[in-house]
Amino acid sequence: MNYANIKFTDIANGEGVRTSLFVSGCTHHCKNCFNKETWDFNYGKPFTKEVEDKIFASLKPDYINGLTLLGGEPMELINQQGLLPFIKRVRQTYPNKTIWCYSGYLFEELLGTGGDAKKIMRAHCDITNELLSNIDILVDGEFVEEKKDITLRFKGSSNQRIIDVKSSLKQNKIVLSPYNEKRNNKIITMQKNSETLTNAMSV
Ligand code: SF4
Repeated sequence: MNYANIKFTDIANGEGVRTSLFVSGCTHHCKNCFNKETWDFNYGKPFTKEVEDKIFASLKPDYINGLTLLGGEPMELINQQGLLPFIKRVRQTYPNKTIWCYSGYLFEELLGTGGDAKKIMRAHCDITNELLSNIDILVDGEFVEEKKDITLRFKGSSNQRIIDVKSSLKQNKIVLSPYNEKRNNKIITMQKNSETLTNAMSV
């Protein structure tokens, strides 16, 4: 597996401060993709043990919330093979850090239970479920230019879903993360909570 980039202390791709790994290779070819150079599986540099160790070291401080996988497409079959041992090591070493993953495939396509049959062929194999079981949050679906919405948090277009993977696997249905709320809704919610607290304190 090759990788295109690593961002340390990244605050744009998931909750809190994170290390973000951009792997190479993507077969989706979305219109107006922001990262076209990463479509090529040979783009970037090899994901070596030294690179792995550098990412591990970056995750250690308490102020780092976790790791985010992006691309390219982390869930292309060859990238799943490259990522699984690494993700298991992260999970074992840092059980309290969160792992986010951005994929152009739908959660159902990764599980092999629904969606586009051709995409299931490209995204579901015998290690996919194990990989998913080590991920906390999956942002799924291709970026759709016509559905682009800059008020969304942690995703580019409104068709994409921010999925709580562990709850979804446990309940056998899609459970969305609260991060699906728009920025403004979040602020409104926080204001409401603050008002409720103020009212409660004044009683
Ligand atoms: S899935 Fe991401 S990297 Fe791949 S084409 Fe779409 S926007 Fe680009």
